[in-house]
Amino acid sequence: MSLMVNNYKKSFNIFLLASLIITGVVLIIIFNTILLTNNSIQNIEIELDFNEENAYIFVKNQTEDIGNRIPGTPEHQESINYFISEFQKIDSNVSYYFHNFTLDPTYINPINCSNLLFKLNEGYDNIVILGAHYDSRARATKDPINQTAPVPGANDGASGCAVLLELARVFYNKRINLTCEIWFLFFDAEDQGRDISWSIPGWGWCEGSNRFVDNIDNFYNSSSEYFECMILLDMVGGTNLRFINEQYSTSTLLNELFQVGRQLGYTTAFPSSPVSQPIIDDHQPFVEYGIPSADLIINFWSDSNWPYHHTTSDDLSHISNTSLMITGRTVEQFIYNIFFNSSEYNYQGNYPWNLDTVFIDYNLYFQIGIIFIFIVCPIIIFVMKYLPSQTKT
Ligand SMILES: [Zn+2]
Repeated sequence: MSLMVNNYKKSFNIFLLASLIITGVVLIIIFNTILLTNNSIQNIEIELDFNEENAYIFVKNQTEDIGNRIPGTPEHQESINYFISEFQKIDSNVSYYFHNFTLDPTYINPINCSNLLFKLNEGYDNIVILGAHYDSRARATKDPINQTAPVPGANDGASGCAVLLELARVFYNKRINLTCEIWFLFFDAEDQGRDISWSIPGWGWCEGSNRFVDNIDNFYNSSSEYFECMILLDMVGGTNLRFINEQYSTSTLLNELFQVGRQLGYTTAFPSSPVSQPIIDDHQPFVEYGIPSADLIINFWSDSNWPYHHTTSDDLSHISNTSLMITGRTVEQFIYNIFFNSSEYNYQGNYPWNLDTVFIDYNLYFQIGIIFIFIVCPIIIFVMKYLPSQTKT
């Protein structure tokens, strides 16, 4: 009787072991299928119009012609007027909206701030948001010599806005073929938070984008319109461009942008093994709101490729036409892949980017973990349990 029970238990354990091994193998197959799906992106054949020389001029206009765009200064207001006049050159009837707010935790010196929104190709239910911050930092807190001087913000601020301006021109010309509305969103008060020792008193990072998302319902009809995705451009025009795998970003969206860029031949800017790091930036409130969002940003904290972050050297001399081109063309191609002449989506990629799988970065560790938990450990336990009793008999 007890022998039968033992045999029964042993068969049951063999069954359990086999089930665990099969589960492990199936999990690894599913996981690799997801990875493979992520790697099966094909750019559509289309001529790209993004002109890096235009974008470079837009950086120069903001930094050398206007100057420091610090909230509360005349130059800051001038930069708002500049964006409006540039958009009106593209489309004299362009719709634009201010999102005004004041920042003054002390109630002594309220500073007027404005996010600025331009809508292109209106009339579609689906909206793509392209964003960048336009304020420049009031203190060069990481400067080796003069930490109280302002940051020119050629890369940190102006470069993202410049790419947006040039993309607006490009997409306006192709608007008849585009099957989405595009928002060009210029954020204020991103870059005045505490870094080492200083912030504008009481200000945090990303004040503008957080307040915009708080009031986003005022800017679209939530019962009939929806957001496809949000792409943030931050420090996209510096020399030696190399993007990171930013960890708050929706992984499938960021991954797709990387693959679009790599297929265009930009394999240095979009490396196959990028640095992974979470960055507090203007895309984060959009992620929290539920919009797939990606931050195209560089390693600004330890990378010798571009060591000018929050210093007085973040000026036009460390801006590269090539970097502006790589960023602009990648976003341009990404939009065409999904939204060019598509009555039904002619190209899927990871659309609609509703998967956010942080572990994709760590796929090797993840797979080793599965092998250990479902295969190696059960086999060891099984062998330890049954091997001694077999040697006895
Ligand atoms: Zn900054």
